[in-house]
Amino acid sequence: MPRPDSIWFATLSSAELRELDPGNPAGLQSTPDVLVVGGGIVGLATAHYLAERGAAVQLIEAESLASGASGANAGGVWPNDQGPAHGAGFQQLAFLSRDLWARLSLRPGFEFDWRVNGFLNVNTAKLVPSAAECAARCQDAGYTVRAVDAGQIALLEPHLKPGLAAGLHYPSEAHVHPVRAALSLARAVRERGSRIASSVAAKSFVAKEGRVVSVETTAGRCAPRYVVSATGWTTDWLRGLSPSLPSLRSVSGQLTSTDPLPPLLRGAVGGDYLVIQLRSGEVVTGGNLLESESTAPDPSLSSRFADAARDLIPRLNQVEFRRAWCGRRPATLDGLPIIDRAPGFSNLFLACGHFRNGVLLAPATGKLLCDWLLADSQPVELQPFAATRFSQWSGSNLPQSKTVED
Ligand SMILES: Cc1cc2nc3c(=O)[nH]c(=O)nc-3n(C[C@H](O)[C@H](O)[C@H](O)COP(=O)(O)OP(=O)(O)OC[C@H]3O[C@@H](n4cnc5c(N)ncnc54)[C@H](O)[C@@H]3O)c2cc1C
Repeated sequence: MPRPDSIWFATLSSAELRELDPGNPAGLQSTPDVLVVGGGIVGLATAHYLAERGAAVQLIEAESLASGASGANAGGVWPNDQGPAHGAGFQQLAFLSRDLWARLSLRPGFEFDWRVNGFLNVNTAKLVPSAAECAARCQDAGYTVRAVDAGQIALLEPHLKPGLAAGLHYPSEAHVHPVRAALSLARAVRERGSRIASSVAAKSFVAKEGRVVSVETTAGRCAPRYVVSATGWTTDWLRGLSPSLPSLRSVSGQLTSTDPLPPLLRGAVGGDYLVIQLRSGEVVTGGNLLESESTAPDPSLSSRFADAARDLIPRLNQVEFRRAWCGRRPATLDGLPIIDRAPGFSNLFLACGHFRNGVLLAPATGKLLCDWLLADSQPVELQPFAATRFSQWSGSNLPQSKTVED
């Protein structure tokens, strides 16, 4: 599967692009402390925290680093905007993760365009019964948000069309370049002496008495003490896991972007679709939800995104949206990730199904899994993300596929 033609890869140097695809020149470590399967943002963050704490980590990625959803997303670190829909467990994990991103951004070598530039929601369909009541409800639940009126909207984002009467502003929401973030994490892993291999896939595993004793990969066998599977929505290599994993769905999403433009937006804006402007000037818009395994961008969808962005920001009227790409969000039935020890196994861990929030949640996922492995005790923050919460949904009870939009 080729990596998405996203703005994130287009804004990297050729040396950085090469770094994402290191191959496997030194061969796999045969007995690492931890084998991490999957080189998206979740696998890389997990490998980073483990390597930092002294574990010998081998990460394997079937394609190149960040070639899945991690290279196709919008880069939002938006715990306050997403949070209220998902409850207290998500809130705790998301707030921790946002703080961890902020701390990572201060470290030497971690260059990933971290910006605390806020999020302004002017989609009145989502402000029911009113912006003020939505804000009050979210503030009561611990979220950082305020209702804004037409004058405040014009001050926050002077290039939005006039007449937007009300909105919600989340001043502490942040943004990253997700592929630079993946690169920063990968570099830190290597600096600790751990290994990252691309074009190496896990194929199957051998287990004895509830322990994975070896993993068969396309580059030979590996016998780690622990295994973390961070493969997003596809868990093919874990076939034979018993009790079986809950089904993960692939929910695709598309984005489209302009060439670099003079400054138009300060933060992220939620209208009919998301609109953001990168530090490098490109305006990115889109973010639909479609239950599909296809990653082929749909030109009619790009036109719809572009029209909506031009309506919201009149200065975009003559501007072309030249680039379009699509990615697959890994989704569980409740939209929350599985971050758990695989039921029935002592040394196999799952970090998958991060759906719309994998960038946001990657550092907390990785750090808490690292704490769990090293202390052999489940962090309380991970209890809401147990694999077993889906036991009532199996086989014929699975809901039918559906198509929805943001
Ligand atoms: C359009 C769009 C917009 C989004 N916007 C945001 C946003 O603003 N903020 C946010 O937080 N999230 C966002 N997301 C979601 C986010 O991108 C995902 O939740 C996140 O990237 C998931 O990361 P991951 O590492 O779990 O999965 P992936 O990035 O898919 O990584 C999994 C990796 O595992 C590899 N793999 C699979 N099988 C094997 C195997 N057998 N052996 C070895 N490797 C294997 C794959 O090749 C892949 O690289 C968005 C997603 C999309 C599509």
